[in-house]
Amino acid sequence: MDFQPLLDEIVHRLAPEAGREGAVARYIPALARIDPRHFGIALRTGAGEEATAGDGGVRFSIQSISKLFTLTLAMRHLSEDALWSRIGREPSGNPFNSLVQLESEHGKPRNPFINAGAIAVADRIVGLYGRDAKSELLAFMSHLAGEPIGFDPEVAASEAATGYRNYALANFMKSFGKLDHDVDTVLDFYFHQCALSMSALQLARAAGYLCRDGAHPCNPGEQVVTERQARRINALMLTCGTYDAAGDFAFHIGLPCKSGVGGGIVAVVPDRLTLAVWSPALDATGNSLLGTRALELFAQRTGLSIF
Ligand code: GLN
Repeated sequence: MDFQPLLDEIVHRLAPEAGREGAVARYIPALARIDPRHFGIALRTGAGEEATAGDGGVRFSIQSISKLFTLTLAMRHLSEDALWSRIGREPSGNPFNSLVQLESEHGKPRNPFINAGAIAVADRIVGLYGRDAKSELLAFMSHLAGEPIGFDPEVAASEAATGYRNYALANFMKSFGKLDHDVDTVLDFYFHQCALSMSALQLARAAGYLCRDGAHPCNPGEQVVTERQARRINALMLTCGTYDAAGDFAFHIGLPCKSGVGGGIVAVVPDRLTLAVWSPALDATGNSLLGTRALELFAQRTGLSIF
């Protein structure tokens, strides 16, 4: 199937509305000044066909979409026990940066896609690679995307300068003995992963293993993760990937998704394709407002859904 006309139509219909509703993330200047009129979409099929429309080739701050890739990196190298003894697999039903459950649940985050969970994953990655953790993440992302991927240093620095809640979450987990490494080192890694800069097309490529039973997006014969691990990541995306809107995403879109406050969303159609959208204005749950609408439209038009 040629998806290009559909992506063109989605851009034609939705791009004129970009910036009319919702608001860009304002907690750091580098995100607050992004023009909310950007709108991009891109996809890559399991067989390697690509389509992109609008700003699909423009890099943006992937923010929490990075949680998908750090989880993948951790799953590649850690035993199930080592990873899941410290992190749950249940939807939180709370905002992504909420502190409330951590206390009653003794410092064990609900899932790897809320901030606390991603910080716990970051602790594991720092344990794997030490000082090289950030460069290993860049190498992994570049290997997946098939071209060099970098951090936006301004975003990384302002994440650190304003990361009061993330410091609170990390210190809280540390107080429960649930982080092995020091808070500053773990958060330095976490703030950099949030600052990865990628386009929708690069994201659709990089996430390609999720629609290929774990096989590398373009290297024949290379498994990024096992088939079972790829299924599990998709299951977590469906139940937890869009925070307290995960139920609505499953209801309206019916695909595993992972969002970020930079306005990006990655969606997976298992055994078919990966799709990424970018529109910076967010709704109240921190998910891209028009990005969500674009995914809904795509699912309606193609009839693609996991259900
Ligand atoms: N940098 C943001 C934070 O740590 C990422 C949140 C997100 O994209 N949902 O809160």
